[in-house]
Amino acid sequence: MGNAIMPKNDTAARRGRKARLTGRLLAATAGAIGLFAALPALAETLVVKNFTLIDGRGGAAEPNSAMVVEDGRIVWVGPSAQAPAAADAVDLTGKYVIPGLIDTHIHMGNVHDLTQDERFYTTENVEADLKTYASYGFTTVAVMGTDKDSVFAVRNAERAGRPTMTRLFTAGQGIVFRGGYGGVPGINRPVTNAKEAAIEVDSQAAKGADYIKFWLDDELGTMPKMPPEISKAVIDAAHRNGLKVFAHIFYLEDAKRLAAQGVDGFVHSVRDQPIDKALTDAMKEKGIVQVAATLSREAAMFAYGKPAPQLGDPFFQQSLSPEALRLLASPERQKTVASSPAYPKLPSFFETAMGNLKRESAAGVHYGLGTDSGPPGRVAGYSGHWEMELMVKDGFTPGQAIQAATEYGAEVLGAKDLGTLERAKWADFVVLDANPLQDIKNTRKINSVYIAGRKVRSVAQ
Ligand SMILES: [Zn+2]
Repeated sequence: MGNAIMPKNDTAARRGRKARLTGRLLAATAGAIGLFAALPALAETLVVKNFTLIDGRGGAAEPNSAMVVEDGRIVWVGPSAQAPAAADAVDLTGKYVIPGLIDTHIHMGNVHDLTQDERFYTTENVEADLKTYASYGFTTVAVMGTDKDSVFAVRNAERAGRPTMTRLFTAGQGIVFRGGYGGVPGINRPVTNAKEAAIEVDSQAAKGADYIKFWLDDELGTMPKMPPEISKAVIDAAHRNGLKVFAHIFYLEDAKRLAAQGVDGFVHSVRDQPIDKALTDAMKEKGIVQVAATLSREAAMFAYGKPAPQLGDPFFQQSLSPEALRLLASPERQKTVASSPAYPKLPSFFETAMGNLKRESAAGVHYGLGTDSGPPGRVAGYSGHWEMELMVKDGFTPGQAIQAATEYGAEVLGAKDLGTLERAKWADFVVLDANPLQDIKNTRKINSVYIAGRKVRSVAQ
């Protein structure tokens, strides 16, 4: 609170005057009904009213709701009839409001069209990606280990004030075993032994990583896998630095060993076989979370081996450059994708991931919603809506899919002032033209997106 407006030009000055007037109006009304006694007269205030509220906590939708936002944070939510009279309240009659969505597994900044290369990682490209996520209603993302050090300046600037782009959590550079799977060449510094791994973790912690990420996979037997003594060193070093540590895994046996070693979460589903009670029991007992199930990632791995239906969908197209779209639609590229040796197995990995998320949810394991979007063909922003659709196909209700992408995502990231629309939280929210509880695809009917109480560019504009 207390971000006084500093008028920079006429528009800002007008906005400032308006905000002060609104503040006084609210304060006067507050005096009358005794609710807003603490409202500072200089606050920038936003009042939205007459919408149906889906607050992210999984309960019933609340028709005729209103919300009062002050300096970017929610100060009041309740029935429109009890909301303070404000001359410039935004009337959202017929609309639905959900919390800003959270994608707990992305990559950013490294891709141009369909080519991934560290030379593309500039602050400009990072910010373009963050704006794309925001435009799709994903107002918070967690990057899983492929950032350059310039990410910390972007993140710190966001946290110091009221961000105008998607909020960012980062692992810095994730830990990769030399010669093994994961990371982006030129960004991640592969490690060969436990000592190097611990030093690399310390280095990420010193730079300000929000959590530690590592890859433990052999890419279907084609690459060496990080040995157990190295994963143990990574986990212990993360904990010594007071950070959580999340692992890329593929195999059930690796998930079990990492659970025993003290890992805090998995950023993909187990995909080689159905998980068992031994794993879900261990996860519950130790509070290990399924950070992301990445169902849409598994689906995207084989979707573009043929003409995918989404290629003609404007909601999909808006996330991609014309060249990326041309390539995804090109028969030559589709042939290349479909001729990879792993291609025939990919649908079964997707099915296994779907089954395993259901098993975890039934067992009471906590999870967020993450897509692993960002690498070529894994489409920023669109993927999160696809992920929610796939959760519903997997047997979750639309309300549960939204809760995974909001309240649970914030819990997974330890983001206490994000994820739900409640008093004192940041006013990050998405206004929808249709009810997402009736049809999860209505999360795509975006009317507008707000971050910290201010409207940002959305796919609707
Ligand atoms: Zn990833």
